Amino acid sequence: MTVSRLLLLICMAAASLFAESPTPPAPKPHVVVIGVNGMEWDIIRPLLLQGEMPNLAKLIHEGVYGKLRTLPAPNCPKVYTTIATSTPPEQNGITGFLVGGITANTNMLKEEPLWSVLSKHGITVGMANVPATFPVLPVNGYMVSGMLTRGKNCEDGVLCAPKLSEVEGGDAVYPRSMVAELEKNVGDFYIDCARMPSADELKGKEAEVVNAWLAKVQTIREQQTKLFDYLLTNHPTDFTMMVQSCEDRVGHWLYPIQPFNAGYNPKVNSVRVNAFPDQYRALDKVLGTILRHTDDNTYVFIVSDHGIKPLREFEEDPHMHMDHGGTTPVIAKHDFADGDDVPGSLIVVGPNIKHDVRLMGLQASVFDIAPTILHIYGIPQPPQMKGHVLTEIFLKPGTAAVAMEH
Ligand SMILES: [Zn+2]
Repeated sequence: MTVSRLLLLICMAAASLFAESPTPPAPKPHVVVIGVNGMEWDIIRPLLLQGEMPNLAKLIHEGVYGKLRTLPAPNCPKVYTTIATSTPPEQNGITGFLVGGITANTNMLKEEPLWSVLSKHGITVGMANVPATFPVLPVNGYMVSGMLTRGKNCEDGVLCAPKLSEVEGGDAVYPRSMVAELEKNVGDFYIDCARMPSADELKGKEAEVVNAWLAKVQTIREQQTKLFDYLLTNHPTDFTMMVQSCEDRVGHWLYPIQPFNAGYNPKVNSVRVNAFPDQYRALDKVLGTILRHTDDNTYVFIVSDHGIKPLREFEEDPHMHMDHGGTTPVIAKHDFADGDDVPGSLIVVGPNIKHDVRLMGLQASVFDIAPTILHIYGIPQPPQMKGHVLTEIFLKPGTAAVAMEH
């Protein structure tokens, strides 16, 4: 036997060995989406410069970042549903907090959300506190609802929050069997941020009410962090989406404005001038907790539905200022007719994402998030989705899913 024939036999033996051993399935991409309600660059930029948001700064440096074009008169339920379905509110059915006088809910949803498309393609899905996901719908994993969950002391579900044990009118957790597990391991947590105090509640005891309300917000954030950490530790999924919403709520009535701004009331607005920036300092710590569950092969998306700006009396109908609930004296808002005034935010890092690249102008929109995430999983974009894949953020466009396998 010649040496070359021997080598050939060895090669054939090796080839048959490989052919007979089952090929392990390629790992599915790992995507974590962290949603922030009303993230405002005007407030975040100085915090980044001062080194007070180290986790967000790191993501920005390592990935692609920029503003995200939002909808006209943006608010949380309609923008998050557009993010999920890549369709406009008139088409997907969720046009605001209320639709035909009824609190927006998933029974009104007319287009298939991202998590449902992913589930059908065998991707495991985990979701917590995503707005407008109540009552929860089945997914290939778990779902804990968020903003617009109804229950005790929050019967309409609008900008208030029941505790898990107080939910009424539908399921807040899928699968239902997970409720007992969460109550045992996380506790009886608030599903969403607290309702803002009314003008009547504030009158005469402003400082006391501001401080008590901010303390409750901090409690809710601690509960959310514990929930996120528990879910990421004990129920890891291919696709995970978790949303924070207290930032926006604080900004509406405690935005750090000047005395010349519309609505300034020193009795309220001088009590805790750092309340709103403090929300982002706290958000960065939540980010740190979530990022402990990610690695270099994880795609991390930070997505915000809109920004928030002080009121502009000169061009707004003063009666429009009560855009959150209607009784709180708000001093900042986001439902400006032109959504470009309050763009959202997008930061993406991942194994096939460009580094330290800024998306200029408003080239990325809320419609593009779902198609881009589907692209990472190699799932074709459903025809009803109006956005496009953000090919410009990828190092190798068209190979996002493959890039995981190196
Ligand atoms: Zn808001």
